[in-house]
Amino acid sequence: MIDLHTHTDESDGTFTPSELVHAALELKLEALGICDHDTFAGYDLAAPLARDAGLDLVCGIELSTKWKRTPSSAGRSIHVLGYFLDAPPGDEFRHWLGAIRDARRDRNRRLAARLQSLGIDVTLPEVERRGRSLAGRPHFARILLEKGYVSTLQEAFDRYLAESGAAYVERNEPALDEGIRMIVEAGGLPSLAHPIRLSDRRPVVEKAVAQMCDMGLKAIEACHSDHGPDDPAFFLKLAGRHGLAITGGSDFHGANKPGLALGTGYGNVAVPRTVLDSLRAAAARS
Ligand code: AMP
Ligand code: FE
Ligand code: FE
Ligand code: ZN
Repeated sequence: MIDLHTHTDESDGTFTPSELVHAALELKLEALGICDHDTFAGYDLAAPLARDAGLDLVCGIELSTKWKRTPSSAGRSIHVLGYFLDAPPGDEFRHWLGAIRDARRDRNRRLAARLQSLGIDVTLPEVERRGRSLAGRPHFARILLEKGYVSTLQEAFDRYLAESGAAYVERNEPALDEGIRMIVEAGGLPSLAHPIRLSDRRPVVEKAVAQMCDMGLKAIEACHSDHGPDDPAFFLKLAGRHGLAITGGSDFHGANKPGLALGTGYGNVAVPRTVLDSLRAAAARS
């Protein structure tokens, strides 16, 4: 079994890179993919530890992008995974990520100000201490919980942080087609993360995936913790129709997604080693 979608505490997971590597070894995972949001800091720290321990570590990223049907529409958020199977990406891609993190920091500043205007005592420095190389809304949620403003992390999103929440502020995100293009240009394989979140209506999902293929999408995450019993087969078939590769993983976030286990998700994820073998074979051919 492998797990190609996990987060460390360098983004919004709670395991340090070292703890994650050790958890993967304990589970006897045959490969571990680290896909932190907008940063390679977790992968970079884990890489030498994995090498010493003999763990097959895959370099990945998860980008939040905006998909706008028309230039003036608000757009929706689409998460794209990038897998760098030959070598981690170079400086150009890392600089581009740096600009994304700057936009995120600006959003965090405005979000903290909005919360303060609602009478909530949360400051940017305290959020950034939690977020390490990448502070985001899950870190705001945890502080709101610890200070007693809400009683669950989900309540923090529902009341304050979600798009419909009282303190929500927009973030400047790269466009979906730009995200896909940047991953490809950096030598990576772009895969649509948790495709089930596109819609609960399959024709809508089918149409969206077809449009993303035109943008250069190369793979789809057929196995994910959010998927129900019939979903992997549906996404495998959809991938086959478009010549897309398959990726899969739990989307492990440690204590930030309670009940979700490394490798197996909610008991509904099991990704065989052959998935990674196929990705590598395809990368070697291209
Ligand atoms: P950020 O990238 O800082 O905007 O935070 C996005 C992260 O917050 C996502 O990856 C999810 O983990 C979490 N998140 C976003 N919206 C919600 C929601 N409505 N309920 C729970 N978690 C959410
Ligand atoms: Fe996340
Ligand atoms: Fe995601
Ligand atoms: Zn994720």
